[in-house]
Formats: sequence, structure tokens, C-alpha cells
Amino acid sequence: MTDNGPAGSGSHPSPSDGAREAQESRVPAHERASATQVGARGPEGLPDEVGAEPGQADRATEGTGRPEAGVAVLPAFDDHHPPEQELIDDCVHCGFCLPTCPTYVLWGEEMDSPRGRIYLMEIGRQGEPMNDEMVRHFDQCLGCMACVTACPSGVQYGKLIEATRQQVERRYPRSRRDRAFRALVFRLFPYPRRLRLLRGPLRLYQRSRVGTLARRAGLLDRLPKRLSAMERLMPDLGRLEPVPEVTPADGPRRRRVGMLTGCIQRVFFPEVNAATARVLAADGCEVVAPAGQGCCGALSLHAGREAEAQAFARAAIETFEAAGVDQVVVNAAGCGSAMKEYGHLLRDDPAYADRAKAFSDQVRDLSELLVELGPAAPRHPLPIKVAWHDACHLGHAQGIRAQPRTALRAIPGLDLREIAESEICCGSAGIYNLVEPEPATELGDRKAANVLATGADLLVTSNPGCLLQLRNALERRGRHLPMAHVAEVLDASVRGAQPGSLLDR
Ligand code: SF4
Ligand code: SF4
Repeated sequence: MTDNGPAGSGSHPSPSDGAREAQESRVPAHERASATQVGARGPEGLPDEVGAEPGQADRATEGTGRPEAGVAVLPAFDDHHPPEQELIDDCVHCGFCLPTCPTYVLWGEEMDSPRGRIYLMEIGRQGEPMNDEMVRHFDQCLGCMACVTACPSGVQYGKLIEATRQQVERRYPRSRRDRAFRALVFRLFPYPRRLRLLRGPLRLYQRSRVGTLARRAGLLDRLPKRLSAMERLMPDLGRLEPVPEVTPADGPRRRRVGMLTGCIQRVFFPEVNAATARVLAADGCEVVAPAGQGCCGALSLHAGREAEAQAFARAAIETFEAAGVDQVVVNAAGCGSAMKEYGHLLRDDPAYADRAKAFSDQVRDLSELLVELGPAAPRHPLPIKVAWHDACHLGHAQGIRAQPRTALRAIPGLDLREIAESEICCGSAGIYNLVEPEPATELGDRKAANVLATGADLLVTSNPGCLLQLRNALERRGRHLPMAHVAEVLDASVRGAQPGSLLDR
């Protein structure tokens, strides 16, 4: 049942009020401390405004395309995979996750912490309706999985928020404006052919410097926040560099691997895919990049669009099964994380459940596979100071932290620097920086300050979204720092390229 009555009207109390009261009675006051009290640090050089007013972005987001309409959906969850009670019960409310949760760090709000969100899931199961405010707390979660890393009780927050988001997408009537924006994103981003059609007009826009002039004149600030975020996060478009369908191994073949070329990666970062194929080939892999491959479904999965994600997953499984490969290599952290979840995503489908699980077991992040294989090609020196940024879907969701560092440290002369607060998300998080631009901006500013504090010459990561988010955050500070995907650094080293090939960009 959906009740579109005015906010707070009717016989149902606001779940968040109820939740807050109940939660406050259960959580000792000292555990409801502010972000700084729980250990979130203010990095050196952080601009004064970042985090200075807790709740600022929270309030702003509330007003971005989502006026609260008094919607209350009863029951909150239907019977199709609601967040599982046993997984909810694993949370012992200890609060160890709080200092690494980006939204809690920003606002110090219990309901914007992992523990608070799990509590909202629990009261939803117990009969509280799903209303605007409850959905806002779920939407504001970045899905970064920092809480999974931090949790000593092994709470599977990923499964909980995934199930919850599917319920929200199925049941909660978003505002027309919100629906229109999400429709634009999901009709465009997972489709490389549609994205490719945009390349021409976007290149023209970038070359004509219309955007720069419009920004200087303040015109872009007049756009709705989500559209202006889209404009600011647009990648610089170079030339297309397609990856051949088969790249033979240099020397004796050690593996035959399938390569996911991705949607955004393929169209906007083709040089990253080209570097990935070259590095894999240099280390003895025959690389198969099936021409007919589509989206892996990561964006849809992480946004709760279950049926769409399942359709993409089935197609990916069929494509790579047909390619007859030993493993499937992924160079985008969010995609790799989603593909490792196919077994769970297709668990109800008798035709695909086993195949999906077998497929997930084959998936490897690029750095994971390279370290597993060990280098075959010599690495040439690159005397560069590199700051390594752990993409959340690599570090937290896949537990891959050591491998990219090992791969980079194998390059002679490379000086690897750690970024403070590395566990806290940069604010990119799939489409989060588009749908929730204000908190994403605050998190980007925070990360940019920490990156600059390393004194590195080059920022390296493994996710296209993080690169765009951090480039934008640095631009806001009037700073430029060259950036590269880890594949490009390894490729430059294998080819014996000069440091300038990475730094002069
Ligand atoms: S996934 Fe990230 S934003 Fe969401 S509750 Fe966990 S730590 Fe917080
Ligand atoms: S999610 Fe884990 S770390 Fe966070 S409160 Fe629950 S048990 Fe503690």
C-alpha cells in the first residue's frame, strides 16, 4: 500500500522519528559522538569549510530533486528478498564502523551510519513504513563498504544494502524529477553505443571552450545541481583506441584471459583498456576482448535495479563462456566487485545460478591476476612519486589492497606514498556524485587535501569514477595533479617509457 498523504499525517509515526527515539534509547550517548570524537581526522591543509558545518550537505541533498512528499509505503519491504533478519542480527551495535563511514564522518548522524541504517532495515521489517526520510538515509549511503572492512562482527552490509535498495527501487515512488534524472543515467551509461554517439558533440563542446566560458560566467551554477555535476565530471576526451578482439601473449602463453572493456572505460578511457591488454600480453596472457560484450551491470546492481542487473549479468556470462577463457580480467573496481557477486545476484535462476557462481570465481582484478602470475616482462625504472588511491570497490568490497601496491613497488625507482584516511571514500561511488552531488563534493574536497599532502607527482587508482571525482576536486582547489590508471603506469614501465609520458598530462 502506498500512502501519499502529507508528511507526518495519518496513524503511522515517522519511522525515522520512531527509529531515532528507539535507537537513542539503545545507543549510549558516548557512542552517538560526533565524527571528530570517533576519530575522523581533519587532514592538514583541509579547507576550513569542509565538514565545518555538519549537516550542510545533508540538508542540501534533501532539497536536490527530492522534496519530501509525505510518502509512506506499507509494508516497507515485500517478500522478495527483504534485508535478511539473520544478517541484521549480526550487528551488535558496537560502533566500530562509525569512524570509517563517510556520511557519519560528514554529519555525525546516527541514521547516516551503518549501524543506523541497519536499524532502519530492522524497523522496516517490524512494520514501520518506508517513508521519504528513511529512503534518504539509504540513498545517502555510498555503498563504499568501509563498514564491512571495519566491522569485527562480520556484518554483511553489502548484502543488506543491496536487498534494501532493490526494495526501494521497486516500491518507493520517487519524485518525477528524480525519476527523470535516474532514467537519463540508466538509459545512457550502461550502453557503450549510446555513449559513443555522445563523444562527437562532447569533444566539440570541450574544444570550443564553451564550457570554460560558461563556467567563468557562472552560467553552469544556474543548472540543476545534478546536471552541473554531470558537466563538471565529464572526462577529457582523447582519441579512440580500440582493443583488438584477440591480443596474443608475448612469449609462451601462461593464461587465456577474457577482458571486460566496460562501458564508460571503453568509450571515455580507451587508453586504459589498451594499456591493460598490453600489460597482460607482456606478462604472458592471451587477451580476448569479445566485441559483442555489453555492460557488466555494476551501476544497475549498486543502484538496486535488480532485473536490469540480472539481464546484464546473464549476457556477460554467456559472452565470456563462449570465449573459452581461463579467467576474466577487470580493470574497473566497481565492475569487478559486481561480477564477483553474480552468484548471489542470480541465485534464484535455475538456468544460471551455478554458471554465475563459477563465473564469479573466474573474475580477477587486473592487479590481482598480475600478482598471482608474477611478472614475466622486465619492469623499467620510473622515478616518480606516486600516491595510490584505494578505490572502495577494490579495497573494501574485494579486499584487494596489497596487490596493486605489490605491482607498483615492482617498478624500480617508483616511490609509493600512502594517502591519509585511505579508508574513506572520495565521493565518487558509482553514480553517487551525480545523484548526491553535495556530500560527494565534500568528500572529494577532503580526499583532494589528503592526496596533495602526500607530495606525490602522480595520483594512481583503479577506477575511472575516482579519477574523474578527484580531478574535479583538485580543480576546485585550483590545483592540477597528473592522474593515471594503474594499468597505464605498469604499461609505461614495461615499455620503458619516460616519466613524462605519465606526468605531462
Ligand atoms: S557502505 Fe559506506 S556510506 Fe554506506 S553505511 Fe557503509 S561505510 Fe557508510
Ligand atoms: S555494523 Fe559491525 S561495526 Fe558497525 S555497529 Fe554493527 S557490529 Fe558494530
